[in-house]
Amino acid sequence: MTGMKGNSFAGKLLIEGEIECLTGLHIGSSRETSDIGGVDLLVIRDPVTREPYIPGSSLKGKLRSLLERYRHALEPEKYRFIRKMKVGDVEVHLHECGEKTCVICRLFGVSRTKGIVETNLPAALYVRDARLTNASKQKLSEMESGYYLTEVKFENALDRITCAANPRQIERVPRGAQFHFQMVYNVWEKTASANMEEDVNEIFTGLQLLEDDYLGGHGSRGYGQVRFVNLHVYWRSLEYYQGKEEEQAWRAEPEQPLKDVACAVTSWLTSLQRPEERA
Ligand SMILES: [Zn+2]
Repeated sequence: MTGMKGNSFAGKLLIEGEIECLTGLHIGSSRETSDIGGVDLLVIRDPVTREPYIPGSSLKGKLRSLLERYRHALEPEKYRFIRKMKVGDVEVHLHECGEKTCVICRLFGVSRTKGIVETNLPAALYVRDARLTNASKQKLSEMESGYYLTEVKFENALDRITCAANPRQIERVPRGAQFHFQMVYNVWEKTASANMEEDVNEIFTGLQLLEDDYLGGHGSRGYGQVRFVNLHVYWRSLEYYQGKEEEQAWRAEPEQPLKDVACAVTSWLTSLQRPEERA
């Protein structure tokens, strides 16, 4: 791999594939109730196409919180929850230290806070919005649910204090739907090759944790179980953008488990490096 040393920009690693919904997926919109049909909880939709999608911020936020807890369990002193934030009426604890040896801060970035973190650290990982694949759009549009590319399910939640029934209609993307996702991991540090293996491993660990967790809302009711399929990875070096070098591509086997994918990708990346660049 060229450009790994001595540059402030060495290249970009693109991680792509499909997010398959194994159960219904509800990622809520800020609009609470629909004017039509009395649906209580609507899914977020692209304002232009009206198609449901997975915001990059939702996916990234979920990966971050899963990895923060994972790292905290491994090294509680290093990965402390420093920042408190209010999200709606829930208090969220975030890890931020700004250390370059910290895989969480490298991947997800840090914004400067007086007394806590002295400098900004840009996030090395970008997560794009995930869009429904054409095949899924086709399949979902043939479904007769009365809703565009979604379905609506009644959930009878019991208020645990008053025991009153609280029936709600929740809109969701049906099981089987696939979204195309893309993440960009930026390699810009001079010491990138040492960090890259840890960072890439961490990204795939995050995907594994997410497969055993949930995306969006109502996870305890079984919503939001996903898996990552059809994974492919591209390396675009600095020289690629100058037109001097080809893009390098790697593709997972159709049913290759994520755990194996992480190992395969990191050894593939090492094989691309020039001998003098190897850590
Ligand atoms: Zn940190």
